[in-house]
Amino acid sequence: MADNASASSSSGTPSGLRAGLGQTVSGSDGLLQHENLIFEIGTPTKTGVDLPMPAGMPQRLGGLGRSQPPQLPGLSEPEAMRHYVRLSQRNYAIDLGMFPLGSCTMKHNPRLNEKLARLPGFADLHPLAPASATQGALRLMGMLSDWLLALTGMAAVSLVPKAGAHGELCGMLAIKAALAARGESHRKKVLTPGSAHGTNPATAAQIGFSVVEIGTGADGRVDLADLGSKLGPDIAGIMLTNPNTAGLFERDVIEIAARIHNSGGYFYCDGANFNAIMGKARPGDLGVDAMHINLHKTFSTPHGGGGPGAGPVVFSPDLAPFAPVPYLDRDEFGYYRLVEEAEGEAMPLGRLAAFHGQMGMFVRALSYMMSHGADGLRQAAEDAVLNANYVLARLKTEMSPAFPGHCMHEALFSDAFLKDTGIETLDIAKALIDEGFHPMTVYFPLNVHGAMLIEPTETESKADLDRFCDALLAIAARAKAGDPALKAAPFRAPARRLDETRAAREPRLRWRPQGS
Ligand SMILES: *Cc1c(COP(=O)(O)O)cnc(C)c1O
Repeated sequence: MADNASASSSSGTPSGLRAGLGQTVSGSDGLLQHENLIFEIGTPTKTGVDLPMPAGMPQRLGGLGRSQPPQLPGLSEPEAMRHYVRLSQRNYAIDLGMFPLGSCTMKHNPRLNEKLARLPGFADLHPLAPASATQGALRLMGMLSDWLLALTGMAAVSLVPKAGAHGELCGMLAIKAALAARGESHRKKVLTPGSAHGTNPATAAQIGFSVVEIGTGADGRVDLADLGSKLGPDIAGIMLTNPNTAGLFERDVIEIAARIHNSGGYFYCDGANFNAIMGKARPGDLGVDAMHINLHKTFSTPHGGGGPGAGPVVFSPDLAPFAPVPYLDRDEFGYYRLVEEAEGEAMPLGRLAAFHGQMGMFVRALSYMMSHGADGLRQAAEDAVLNANYVLARLKTEMSPAFPGHCMHEALFSDAFLKDTGIETLDIAKALIDEGFHPMTVYFPLNVHGAMLIEPTETESKADLDRFCDALLAIAARAKAGDPALKAAPFRAPARRLDETRAAREPRLRWRPQGS
């Protein structure tokens, strides 16, 4: 564990061991088995397959043939399998327990979705297969598009973007293209609230806009007076999340949209929190010009740990012509094709990716939509809001809600209740790990001091919500009593306190043999 050792526990407890329980000979902790890195356990000469040596093979690589064998870890099949299964047991997953990570919508991924995504006709599809051979897949994309347009009340959709942040890029490039088409490329300023997800200002800055922060009122929503003072002929638009990242619906959203439009700008909505309003409110009715939808959040396709996302973007009639290629087209006979270059009135912003999106995620999302039905989707939104309010109600006297009143799909707390205890938000999050829960989102949004953002989602039962709240209340009580052990938590995780700042600043992404 050469490289990891320096970043793990400061207390010297070996990885894999619970403090105070002593060290085992094997390094394992009960049935949680000790495991080294794959390069440390592999033997270069070993292999999982046994093939005959090829005879008389001509060397056709000229001078480019390898002089040294590649530095691959050699493992037999059972060794390789055990390695990855052991690692998986050190991980936390939505299939193991509640994942209250605010802003991430970590809901259960129904197994029906997985079953359908594995149908060979979808799973084995080649992205270059011609439209004549892929009508079923294209029709599925068409149906998904129809559901997204019905749910959002928007005019057009691009299925291309691979994630929410990629969707933001897509939507903001469409706004840039629309401004250019109007001869108004001098409009360079994009407004974002202080509570914005980091990807919002990053996206705007990445494509040459300058970011102007708008203030937040005492109620946790956009400060309209501050917004008004920042509008002008240089405004390209606003990037606003609704419900916002404090878990609150922007009550003035229609007024905000009107003011942005009156000053000649566009309204980009960050739709990451669509789970709270699907089937209840349509962004198209709120004046939104472009919005991404994280299929991996709202529509239950798996995410976290590197699974592919999908971030389709819906457009208003004004922005629809600027949607990127390729896009789906259907002729009068119901035959689908992918349009790869500008046609007719379209002025595509260009191409964002080689192909048209994440087919597996499209299948899962449509499976989720169709198995829930319109009424089921609305109920999912209502239950998500109910669950978050239950958590808020159970915790609000012992912790400090960041803003007054009810919340939408997530409950936000500040660290005010930790004042003078010496305990910080990070300590609370780490202590939750010992209780068997993935921590909530911490220190986001930035405009709330020591923020703790809890999004239970609709798929948690009351019993699980109670277990979580009981654990958190007990930790809060220990914090108020000044329990110093909280500063060293977690005690029961495979790795203790990691130096996360150093890991981010000096990432070591390559394993090197010890001593080299
Ligand atoms: C998750 C999230 C994003 C980014 O989405 P990715 O799919 O992770 O790229 C943007 N904004 C908000 C508010 C989010 O919660």
